[in-house]
Amino acid sequence: MSGMAGARRVAYQKIRHDCACGRVLRGNLATSHLRTCETNLRESGWPLDAGMKDALLNEYGSRRQAPTYAQIVRTVERGLGQIYLERRQRGDKTPLPWIEYRDTVWRLAEEAAQ
Ligand SMILES: [Zn+2]
Repeated sequence: MSGMAGARRVAYQKIRHDCACGRVLRGNLATSHLRTCETNLRESGWPLDAGMKDALLNEYGSRRQAPTYAQIVRTVERGLGQIYLERRQRGDKTPLPWIEYRDTVWRLAEEAAQ
């Protein structure tokens, strides 16, 4: 491994995330665990994907007063966490359909921003 690509890969593998359940996660395994771990869903919420975060940043990134963009993201992720916990408790482990996911994110963000 050499050069920038190698350095980036090493840096990526070192990204470490301590889940609320006590597991230590690295790299791209982290997100899939965080989206299905009931402890994480309850305590931190369901992590948004990068594209949706960018869309929220476009809409709320210039806010200077509370709730800020970062607070809105946290509120949305917690709201999604609740939705996913309820689905799992009903035995439904499927992801939200894309349209429903998108609409839910914007509804939660608008509620958070009020
Ligand atoms: Zn976990």
